[in-house]
Amino acid sequence: MNGAIASHDLIVVGAGIVGASCADAAAAEGLRVAIVEPGPIGGGATAAAMGHLVAMDDDPAELALAHYSLRQWEEFSTLKEAEFSRCGTLWVAREANDLRAVARRIERLAAAGIQAHAIDAESLYELEPELAPGMRGGMLVPREAVVYPPRVARYLVHRAQSRGARLHAGRRVRQLTGDGVQLDDGTRLAGPTLVATGCALPELLPRLPLRPRKGHLVITERYPTLLRHQLLELGYADSAHGDAASSVAFNVQPRPTGQILIGSAREFDATDAAVSPLVLQCMLERAFAFMPVLRELQALRAWTGFRPTTPDGLPYLGAVPGHTDLWVAAGHEGLGVTTALGSARLLLDLIHGRTPAIDPAPYAPSRMLA
Ligand SMILES: Cc1cc2nc3c(=O)[nH]c(=O)nc-3n(C[C@H](O)[C@H](O)[C@H](O)COP(=O)(O)OP(=O)(O)OC[C@H]3O[C@@H](n4cnc5c(N)ncnc54)[C@H](O)[C@@H]3O)c2cc1C
Repeated sequence: MNGAIASHDLIVVGAGIVGASCADAAAAEGLRVAIVEPGPIGGGATAAAMGHLVAMDDDPAELALAHYSLRQWEEFSTLKEAEFSRCGTLWVAREANDLRAVARRIERLAAAGIQAHAIDAESLYELEPELAPGMRGGMLVPREAVVYPPRVARYLVHRAQSRGARLHAGRRVRQLTGDGVQLDDGTRLAGPTLVATGCALPELLPRLPLRPRKGHLVITERYPTLLRHQLLELGYADSAHGDAASSVAFNVQPRPTGQILIGSAREFDATDAAVSPLVLQCMLERAFAFMPVLRELQALRAWTGFRPTTPDGLPYLGAVPGHTDLWVAAGHEGLGVTTALGSARLLLDLIHGRTPAIDPAPYAPSRMLA
C-alpha cells in the first residue's frame, strides 16, 4: 500500500466523537469512507469528557446545533454501548440573583423546542436532598441525559466499518496534499478530506485559530443512591463561555455505575496535561459548597483533558476557504459530545450541496478568515 494512492469519497482525519460521527453518517449514505486515527478511537478529548448531553442556551447558534443534535441522540437512548442515562439536568441557584435568569432561559429553551421548568427551593430538595441548605431553587431540563463518549465513538466507527469504511488505525495524517492526505508511513489517500482532529487542528490547518482549554474531572467510588440528576450551578455558562484564564463551576453527574463524576474547571494557557492539585482543590471546594456530602466520598481518580476552543466558542463546520474538497469539523469546546451528531449531519449536507436543517452560517470556517 506504501506509495500507492487509494481513492475515497471522504477521508475522515481523526476518530474522536466528531470524526466518528462524520464517518458513520457518510458511510450510512453509501460513501466510500477512509478513517485515519493514530491513537485509540475516542481517546482524545472524547475520552476525557463527562458525556453530558446538554443544551446551553446563551448563544442561539450553539443552542440550534445542540438541539438538532440532541434529537439525534434519541436514536442511542436504548443502545447498550451508549450507556445512555436520562438523568435530566438540574440547574441550581445558590443566590436569589441566579434565579432571575431562569424564566428567560426557560423561554429560550422552549422556543428551541426543549422542555424545561422552574423549581422552587422545596422541590429542589425533594429532587436532590443532599444539596447544601439555603439553595434558592433552580431549573429542571428533564429529557437531558448522559452517555459514555469513547464507547459511542468506537460504536460509530465499527458501524461505519460494517458499511465498508476503511480504518487506518495507528496512522497519523502527516500532511494535506491538495487531492487528499499523506500518512506518516507514506501511504497516500485521495479524495475529499474532512479534518476532525480536535485540539490538533492547527497542525494541519494553522490558519484556523484554536486554543486548548484544560479541564479537570474527579470520579468517585459507587454511591448509587446519592444523586439522581446532572447538577450544575446556574452560573455555569459564565465559566464555560467567559474568557477568564481560569475558572471553576459546580458540575456533578451520577454515572449509571453509581459513581459520581465531579467537575468542572477551565484553564487557558495550561498546556501540561498533569493534574494540578491547586485547580483540583478549587474545583472540589466549589462542589463541596453546593453539596457538602461530596467531601465524605472516596475519590478514585482524577484526570485532565483539553477542550478545542475557537475564539467565538462555536465549532468550525464547513468548507475550508481557498481549498477544493477540504472540510473541517473541529473546535467544539465543552459541547462536542452533545453536538457531534448534528455536526456530522450538517457537514454531510454541505458536502452534498443540500440545504442543512439548521443555518450553517454561524459555524462557517470562513468567519475567521475574512
Ligand atoms: C474535562 C472535559 C469535560 C467535557 N465534558 C463534556 C460534556 O459533558 N459534554 C459534551 O458535550 N462535551 C464535553 N466535553 C467536550 C468534548 O469532550 C469535546 O468537545 C469533544 O470530545 C471533541 O471531539 P473531537 O472529536 O473534536 O476531538 P477529540 O476527541 O480530541 O478527537 C480528535 C482525534 O483526532 C486525532 N488526531 C489528531 N491529529 C491527527 C492527525 N494528524 N491525523 C489523524 N488523526 C489525528 C486524535 O488522535 C483524536 O483521537 C468535555 C471536554 C473536557 C476536556
